[in-house]
Amino acid sequence: MTTKRTLVLWDVDQTLVDYPGAGRDWYARALSAVFDQDLIHSPQFGGRTDRYITVQLLEAHGIECTDEQVERVYAKVIAIAGAERDGLAGLGRILPGAVEVLRDLADRPEVVQSLVTGNLAELAEVKLAAFDLLRYVDFEVGGYGAVSADRHELIAAARTAAEAKYGTVFAPGSVVVIGDTPHDIAAARHHGAVAVGVATGRHSVEELVECGADVVLVDLSDPAAVIATLLRTA
Ligand SMILES: [Mg+2]
Repeated sequence: MTTKRTLVLWDVDQTLVDYPGAGRDWYARALSAVFDQDLIHSPQFGGRTDRYITVQLLEAHGIECTDEQVERVYAKVIAIAGAERDGLAGLGRILPGAVEVLRDLADRPEVVQSLVTGNLAELAEVKLAAFDLLRYVDFEVGGYGAVSADRHELIAAARTAAEAKYGTVFAPGSVVVIGDTPHDIAAARHHGAVAVGVATGRHSVEELVECGADVVLVDLSDPAAVIATLLRTA
């Protein structure tokens, strides 16, 4: 007998953890190191993929946007973030309730839990490792920021990977995407997934409702209520 499984896909920044200004700082240093340029035109980071951010960054600074240049930026940003690995927890915080919710869902056989984040996989890895959160997610089947500038393609990538690994078809209605920006919600809706907003970033409950979230949580601080909501919506 097979049990219907739910694929829960978490955003990282301002959903599970928060590192104020870290992304901008890493990109500024990468731009300086690789191209000897100051960061004058800061791309929008919230809810954007690292591919989108890198393309915007190069174009805004008049740098030819080839795959090779994009890869050079990625490599430098990854190196800079990796060098900060040991002190990273001191630059950020885990959001209230996140560890309890992740731990609970990780113990449920009917749930596959992973990530859909605009971060490059290597950046998601260091950000979550700083708070020992990697143990709760199946990192291998996540959708990460090198896949596309379009966030919804990250959801498709995660679903495809999860279906291949677990031998289960995750119908769109059994995929739950949780994030803090309208981009997370739009990507979920594009894919037909359940869109859960969490207002721990720059966007209010009202804004996230307005852009089409199926459910919006104020935060994750009541783990039992969050889990009930996530599993009820799927
Ligand atoms: Mg986010």
